[in-house]
Amino acid sequence: MSDDTIFGKIARGEAEANIVYEDDQCLAFRDLYPAAPMHILVIPRKPIPRLCDSGEEDQSLLGHLMLVANKVAEEQGFGDQFRLVVNNGEGAGQSVFHLHLHVIGGRSLSWPPG
Ligand code: 5GP
Repeated sequence: MSDDTIFGKIARGEAEANIVYEDDQCLAFRDLYPAAPMHILVIPRKPIPRLCDSGEEDQSLLGHLMLVANKVAEEQGFGDQFRLVVNNGEGAGQSVFHLHLHVIGGRSLSWPPG
């Protein structure tokens, strides 16, 4: 699967990012245009474009991404109050087609989102 997205480049070390966590399966880095005091993106190294492109074989990886989101939020001091967002598809607000979890916190968050 080819992945020319900016996140694919970050995952391969070809583009810069402010990385706060990485392991063999994923990495987490600060969003370039933060929507909150904490706005971190967790991405798999595997180039899955959208959540709906993942399958049974990705079950453990998807769980891992959520646990990493937990860990990152905790490390940033927002471990018990944060929001996870996955925009799936253009109509849902996805602009970078490499799966990512937004980990957002540090301010009051309303519901429903726009
Ligand atoms: P999406 O709209 O696809 O759910 O989220 C993409 C996110 O990536 C946006 O929050 C946007 O601010 C962020 N973003 C776009 N380009 C870059 C970049 O080059 N570096 C980083 N760190 N974040 C980016």
